[in-house]
Amino acid sequence: MTVKPVLQIGNPALRRPATSVPSDNIQDANLQALITDLVDTMRSANGAGLAANQIGAPERIMVMEVLDNPRYPYKPRIPLTVAINPIIEILSPGDPGARQGNNEATFVNNEGCLSVPLRGDVERHISIRVSYQDTEGVHHVEVKHGLTAGTWQHECDHLDGVLFIDRVQDPNTLSTWDEFAANGRDAFIERITKFVARVGS
Ligand code: ZN
Repeated sequence: MTVKPVLQIGNPALRRPATSVPSDNIQDANLQALITDLVDTMRSANGAGLAANQIGAPERIMVMEVLDNPRYPYKPRIPLTVAINPIIEILSPGDPGARQGNNEATFVNNEGCLSVPLRGDVERHISIRVSYQDTEGVHHVEVKHGLTAGTWQHECDHLDGVLFIDRVQDPNTLSTWDEFAANGRDAFIERITKFVARVGS
């Protein structure tokens, strides 16, 4: 087990788009060790997800896991997921498999990031189709909704060199974790819990 330092905003590695992993390389010991490091680092930091470039690795790999996390009591569970070469396709209301909240295609999430010491409001797509390979190279295609879809979009953004603050439209929503806990968290949890009940994950 190796817990790596999580790179912080300002580090150029966070802005470099990741490179795809050739299928033949997925079983390589170095790559499997990187995956283990990603999972260990995510869990150690109590994060919901982590992208490889957040620990300085260039490969297009991200990991996600939401158990009963006191940091995110409102988040639907995500079993440990390792996504290699993930691709996201946006589903619009009316597309097969899509869900919608109040007939809208997007929702406002309040996001944080292990690489950014702030939280802020970000607009995310409610329904997406994800394609990725797992740790054995097997291809998966799945549809995700709501907060789970938001987590996929946040982590996939990392692999494109994009941080959530790039997508914050209203700077008034930016806050530290402490200020969010004091001033925004209760209202957000009330709103997002209703959204999760309506849209699922
Ligand atoms: Zn992040």
